[in-house]
Amino acid sequence: MARVLFINAGSEGHINPTIGVVQELISRGEEVVFFTIEAFRERIEKTGATVRTFDGQKFIKAFISGGRNHLLERVNGLLLTADIVIPSVLEQIKGEHFDYIIHDSMFGCGHLLAKILKLPAINSCTSFAETKLSFDQTIEHLSQNVPTEVLTRINADFLNLTTKIKETYGVEISSPYEVFCNPAPLTIVYTTREFQPTGEAFDQTYKFVGPSISSRLSQEDFDLTAFEGKSPIYISLGTVLNQAIDFYKLCLKAFGNTEHTVVMSIGEQTPLDALGEIPENFIVKNYVPQTELLQYTKLFITHGGMNSTNEALYNGVPLIVIPLSADQPIIAKQVTNIGAGIQLQMESLTANQLNEAANHVLNTPSIHKAVANIKECFQQSGGYHKAVDEIFKFKIQYDI
Ligand code: UDP
Repeated sequence: MARVLFINAGSEGHINPTIGVVQELISRGEEVVFFTIEAFRERIEKTGATVRTFDGQKFIKAFISGGRNHLLERVNGLLLTADIVIPSVLEQIKGEHFDYIIHDSMFGCGHLLAKILKLPAINSCTSFAETKLSFDQTIEHLSQNVPTEVLTRINADFLNLTTKIKETYGVEISSPYEVFCNPAPLTIVYTTREFQPTGEAFDQTYKFVGPSISSRLSQEDFDLTAFEGKSPIYISLGTVLNQAIDFYKLCLKAFGNTEHTVVMSIGEQTPLDALGEIPENFIVKNYVPQTELLQYTKLFITHGGMNSTNEALYNGVPLIVIPLSADQPIIAKQVTNIGAGIQLQMESLTANQLNEAANHVLNTPSIHKAVANIKECFQQSGGYHKAVDEIFKFKIQYDI
């Protein structure tokens, strides 16, 4: 048995794929201490891990204070979270021994903690992976239209923050890539090499294990048996950028009183009564048991979050992707590249267009064929079982 330090401070999309991994690690005898924010305590405790937390409010505040407009500002935001995460983790593990660390690919300063603690590290990557080259190219591309004085300020902030981190924690940071992607000797990516853009560019330290999907919370106010025999259209914009009343109203207009049963998850921030009258063929909730619901779904209208996309394709559900930000445009592009759905733009979207798009996807055999193909690949890829197989091979390599 080894002791595992797990660092994962992200949103739901960063947490969900790790649940099966932690459960599997524990079932194979590992002891896991999982650092996260309070909101995920219950979910992680159910895996059998010991949960410890740091201040989620301060963490988000620090991250956002780096700026939101440019990718490099987000890098600075991540550096600003170091003083929230690192002292708290170090204090709470004082005097304890750990054999290795698993950290999120973005949130929680895992790469820094691995260096400080000198632990063998595994990167848990819940989106597409990035090589240093692809990340640097993205930065270069995004910097093209940014005024020079803004870039100079952002770069100066990066230098100040990394200098301060070196003085405080004694570790050197050599590039924004290190901060944003948290590279490690082993990276677990929760998709297949075939679905990953430029999958062949990644060396053998990247293990593409496929979607890691496990059953989650039982939700008492949601009766899944109601969908047996009548597969719904499911609509969700995920858990982060989901405050979109106009879009939800547009969906009511597009599918209200049609032959379709529609389930719409509108997120915890939007009150149900903000949508006015709900047509009888709609079920609208703030949150639904998505992985379970997708087993019955005939079409998923999604923002193209990595998890939502993986979970849908794993269950053989075709997609209409309406990407909003972050990695979603790239994910939308991959979905259309493999023919498993179509992409629409949120700006200029009309109810009529959405309704027609849904009928198109539902009635196009080539889309269903492409979805069936990727479903098979995803289901054979191994998911969290394979992730833990790779972690155990890594342990042998590091004599753990
Ligand atoms: N999710 C859920 N119920 C909901 C909405 C979302 O269980 O009503 C889960 C979904 O299954 C997925 C995660 O929340 O695992 C959303 O992650 P994703 O990467 O798709 O999007 P994000 O929330 O990060 O934008």
